[in-house]
Amino acid sequence: MSRWRALIVLGIALYTLSPLFGVEDPYSLPVSTVILDAGHGGHDPGTSTAWAFAGGTVYERDLTLDITKRVYSLLAVSKPELHLILTRNDDTFLSLEQRSRIAYSTELPPKTSALFVSIHINSAPSKEASGFEILTKKQDKRVVLLNKDTPLMNIGTLSSQSFLELNRDLNHRNLVVAKTFEEVFSEKLPTSRNRGVKEMDLYVLNASRIPAVLVEVGFITNEEDARKLVSPQWRQVVAQAISEAVIRCL
Ligand SMILES: [Zn+2]
Repeated sequence: MSRWRALIVLGIALYTLSPLFGVEDPYSLPVSTVILDAGHGGHDPGTSTAWAFAGGTVYERDLTLDITKRVYSLLAVSKPELHLILTRNDDTFLSLEQRSRIAYSTELPPKTSALFVSIHINSAPSKEASGFEILTKKQDKRVVLLNKDTPLMNIGTLSSQSFLELNRDLNHRNLVVAKTFEEVFSEKLPTSRNRGVKEMDLYVLNASRIPAVLVEVGFITNEEDARKLVSPQWRQVVAQAISEAVIRCL
């Protein structure tokens, strides 16, 4: 066997045996930490529409905060072992950078991963547009995953792979998470239109550095969706769907 051939064989053997040496996909480890991100807040109201049945203008920032708090309460009861983090728990403004920083600077216990869930309400120029959609990072968008801001504790699981391998693993996990959310939403919200999983170049998805999903739970510009959104009972059903989707991703 030539020297090169021997090296190739050794390389293949090492690759095959790599799980034994601890080279593993850091984003598919059991999830210990869930970051719940209520979209907008404070001087950023998000989208809004005035509806007579709601007695005035309905703001995205209020609906996202309410749903996010419901998800938090549901998960805190059903999965007390989870470390739950809210990017905001009141009506304050947070920049996209601040939201992402919370995601990537959170220390993770060894051999665990995290999940970032951003909760939003949709809008469209056409009042006909309705339903939920699940947004995921664009697969061809490479993101910085490790730098001086990475907590020391988290470096271990990230340093065993190359930048390209980490991006590939993150993309794969993002799609699994997005598809799980879509599946659970279509089960739990059968009266809402399923608009599917969409890849989007969004700052919070790219900059969070961990598996991340952004859910648009309905359209404030569509009357049927808006009537649901202003109902606390329906927001509880949405929160149950999000909470169940998170549990299926653990
Ligand atoms: Zn939004």
